[in-house]
Amino acid sequence: MKRSLQHILALLLCAALLLTALPFGAAAADAQPASETEGKRTACGADCPYYPTIIVPGLGQSSTIVIDENGDPVLDKDGNKVSSFPAYVQTGKLVGRLLGPALLSLVTQRDVGLSKAGADAIDICFGLNACDLNGQLGNQVMTEKFPYSYAEYSEYDRDVVNHHIPFEQYPTDLPRDHLYYFEYNSFGNHIDLANELYDFIQMVKAQTGHDKVNLVPLSQGASITSAMIEYHPEIADQLHKILFVVPALDGSKIIGDVFNGRITFLNPDYLYSGFLEDMRLLDEHTARLIEVAARILPDELIAKVLSSAVDELVGGVMIRSTSMWALCPSADYPSAAEKYLSSPEMAEIRRQTDRYYQVQLHARDNILALKEAGVQIFDLAEYDFPLINVGESWNKQNGDFIIQLDSTSMGATSANCGETLPEGYVQQNTHCTNPAHNHISPDNVIDASTGLLPDTTFYFKNNRHDLTQHNDTILKIAMNLIAHDDLTDVFSDPDFPQFLPGRNVSKLKPLLAQAKELDTTKLPPAKADALNDAIVQAQDVLAHTDGTMEDIAAAEQALTDALVAVGEAEVEKEKDPTFLRNLSEWLYRNFGANGYSEFPRTALQKLFGKLLGR
Ligand SMILES: [Zn+2]
Ligand SMILES: [Zn+2]
Repeated sequence: MKRSLQHILALLLCAALLLTALPFGAAAADAQPASETEGKRTACGADCPYYPTIIVPGLGQSSTIVIDENGDPVLDKDGNKVSSFPAYVQTGKLVGRLLGPALLSLVTQRDVGLSKAGADAIDICFGLNACDLNGQLGNQVMTEKFPYSYAEYSEYDRDVVNHHIPFEQYPTDLPRDHLYYFEYNSFGNHIDLANELYDFIQMVKAQTGHDKVNLVPLSQGASITSAMIEYHPEIADQLHKILFVVPALDGSKIIGDVFNGRITFLNPDYLYSGFLEDMRLLDEHTARLIEVAARILPDELIAKVLSSAVDELVGGVMIRSTSMWALCPSADYPSAAEKYLSSPEMAEIRRQTDRYYQVQLHARDNILALKEAGVQIFDLAEYDFPLINVGESWNKQNGDFIIQLDSTSMGATSANCGETLPEGYVQQNTHCTNPAHNHISPDNVIDASTGLLPDTTFYFKNNRHDLTQHNDTILKIAMNLIAHDDLTDVFSDPDFPQFLPGRNVSKLKPLLAQAKELDTTKLPPAKADALNDAIVQAQDVLAHTDGTMEDIAAAEQALTDALVAVGEAEVEKEKDPTFLRNLSEWLYRNFGANGYSEFPRTALQKLFGKLLGR
């Protein structure tokens, strides 16, 4: 029985992972009293070479918290505010709702209320993020806002922001009283958010005295910025520079697929054979364990539970959020709106989402108009990382795990991940007017000349969207661009060419800091030398933008080995997935997606024999 419970838990974990795979988690920062500081004018008196810069963050990169009926923050057992994004996970309530139906369904091998309980579990977790039929959030969640510059942030405010974007780790010449962060709820009302961003810009101008600002829209933040530009065209005179970072300017194909019912894991054959491995979020041992454990229930039952949970999440929460609709690509919008927004009760939401559809159709023209008006516009895009395999078109175009490259690059032509442009392909020069420019990537994957901004768009190979904040090159470019105007295009600095390797230095940096803190004079000379060599290797990788993910992995390994040798780190061991892989593949070959109770008795005997090694 104990083992069965473990299997159920593994199964629930699996379901939870599937359903929260879209939004990447955002933990609530440590509780600290919020700053009550009022905005003040800056020291520069508006007479300085810098422009106030507003970060418009991405999905879940704001502090949205659960509040009680009095409007006070709900606190967890440690006294920290509870995050409402992507969900409010109340373990006790979930176990109470799921355990009975799960056990009954397990014993009877039928759906004894489990699919209904699954839908209720989604409602328990996500219900507070559901909007009403006017597309407005209810009163169970609140966004913590920072209507003042970074210079006036409390420690709590700084923690919130640095949790998402590590400003403290990357120097910039931009004075801190010129840096602002626009907080919003990713499920919120999209038209309101666009207007709030416009008002925020007015506030920043008033506080700093400057008449123009820089905007840095990240991911979902680009959909808000794009709407703001359409609804308030007069903003053109108030912008100095926009730096788009992996922008969702034409949504994400994942949302387009999900909103059109093209969901991969509702097909049991894929769910039991390939889905968890293709997802690339679990180690193989865990993925295979879930595959084997999931057969504790019949496949029809699991499919029914998943499908009922998806219906609740999409039908109950996502399609009422106009901000989620703003992430649906324009090509996928008409059919999805027809599917979900045709009824009279959805008319108001439809009116609002139709308005954003127009924004999407105009987005590229609006950006060109800003450029005409003298606004400098840059873009950072990532490629060669297939989309997460939730929607059926996950492996059909190039992307960055979350957004297809066409959306983030504003139309660059690309081969699919792992492929190259066709032989004899000629640069199209749709948007580049200088015949001397080469916009084909060295790996022959991208023709940047068909993107809207060929001379000011940077591309990062093999970079995962949700790990963008760990790419030190991206942070360096951003910190440079928000402070200075000397980086004018992809040809101005040999350290920052158009095509750069993807990077993730989130492990390397702390390892290096740990190594540098050690007093090597007390170590045996050979070990001290190895440590110093590893430090030099790591510093070298960090100092050069051409270092690849493999170079970073090698530097991490050298540091780890040197630290292990002096007893300052332990060897990390991954569990060997071979046995579970063979078992799962054998099960699939012999029984398809069937649950154990659906196997013939002789097959079960054979299986137990195999498991017991007899
Ligand atoms: Zn100033
Ligand atoms: Zn060009």
